[in-house]
Amino acid sequence: MSEVIRDIRQAMKDGELKAFYQPQFDSITSKPVSAEALARWVRADGVTVPPMAFIPELEKSGDIREVDWYILAEVCRFLTRLKNSGVTLLPVAVNFSRVHIRENDFVEKLCETVDGFGVDRSLIEVEITESALIDDHYMIKDWIKKIREAGFSVAIDDFGSGLSSLSFVKDMPADVLKIDRSLLSGNCENEKERIVLESIFYFAHRLNMTTVAEGVETKEQLGFLRTCDCKKIQGFIFAKPMPEDEFYKLCEVHKAAAETADILEIQSYKGAADLLMDVIFKRYPLVIFSNLTRNSFYMMSYENFTSTGCPSTGAFDELIIHGASSMHPDDQDIFAATFNRHHLISEYESGKSEVRLVTRQLGDDGIYRRVETTDYFVKSPSVDDLLVITLCDNLPDE
Ligand code: C2E
Ligand code: MG
Ligand code: MG
Repeated sequence: MSEVIRDIRQAMKDGELKAFYQPQFDSITSKPVSAEALARWVRADGVTVPPMAFIPELEKSGDIREVDWYILAEVCRFLTRLKNSGVTLLPVAVNFSRVHIRENDFVEKLCETVDGFGVDRSLIEVEITESALIDDHYMIKDWIKKIREAGFSVAIDDFGSGLSSLSFVKDMPADVLKIDRSLLSGNCENEKERIVLESIFYFAHRLNMTTVAEGVETKEQLGFLRTCDCKKIQGFIFAKPMPEDEFYKLCEVHKAAAETADILEIQSYKGAADLLMDVIFKRYPLVIFSNLTRNSFYMMSYENFTSTGCPSTGAFDELIIHGASSMHPDDQDIFAATFNRHHLISEYESGKSEVRLVTRQLGDDGIYRRVETTDYFVKSPSVDDLLVITLCDNLPDE
């Protein structure tokens, strides 16, 4: 048996193996909302040994299993301590090595330990590193599923550090995606790196995963992560991993400072734009996004509009033919001529920023109503295509 393994076994017996806590902060409010437990060997001589000095060796021998269960028990004991003193409880993520995936009674043991301390299962998050995912796909998927069914949450750690791809992650029913700090090199000033990060966050949010950025150290990184709507920040910019007592104090203070920040000061541009969209959808019952250059469109919102018989996506030219046919016979020609794609392009080229027309449209109830259609020309910063946003409004009867 190697010296390291002997030392760590002894450290567990002597209570020298400790869970340190690194808080995770809400990216918008900058308040601590959860934490990750990280193993440290705090030697009798006062030296703190970091996990990378012993974990790789323990992984090889399989002794890492004992360490992970030991840290979980430490975390549960700590959460009970917080609960007993009435301090706000924050969920804690615990790292589990890949070797647990092949442990048949893993979920039973997890439940037994956590329930044994009387800790709510929803307060424990199981972290498994991304590189473990490329092992047996089905086995891991099943492992994650069972953990979640038992009431715990699951995080995929170190995403972007190894070989796993978005396609692996899409099949994993995990709750949280932790983005590795290797993807945050520098201050996110490289455009291609920013595009990669934006795509990862977009992808994770589309899969309803909570996102955590690891290793955030600078204001610039934080600013960029907010524009990606990254949910939580874990990094030295806010806090380093700290001993239990220090984290305990932080939880106490957190309870005292419960006031919420002004959303207008901290909201990302994208978050504000999403709210603005809500207002536009409330104001206009029909909103269409079209690409005049490529002859395509899709309905962005379609609610309580006079006529509902229109396809929701397809060729722009067909949309106009369909639209014209739903107008009063006296308005059909003017509608078709005004919104004809080539006419719109020439209007844009002659310097117009919008084209507007009021027509009478046949409703589903067989009654004609006045409708105002306004096309706004927009240019995308990334393509040369000419785009149009159409806002349609039902006008009151004359
Ligand atoms: P991890 O799970 O990805 O944990 C995050 C690591 O990033 C921690 O290193 C943390 O201190 C570090 N970190 C956080 N913010 C920053 C930052 O802003 N800048 C920099 N440079 N680093 C930051 P730590 O504590 O040394 O842990 C290293 C790894 O050891 C962990 O990576 C995890 O994979 C493993 N580990 C730690 N504790 C355990 C455990 O109890 N069980 C298992 N199986 N693995 C553990
Ligand atoms: Mg981790
Ligand atoms: Mg990590």
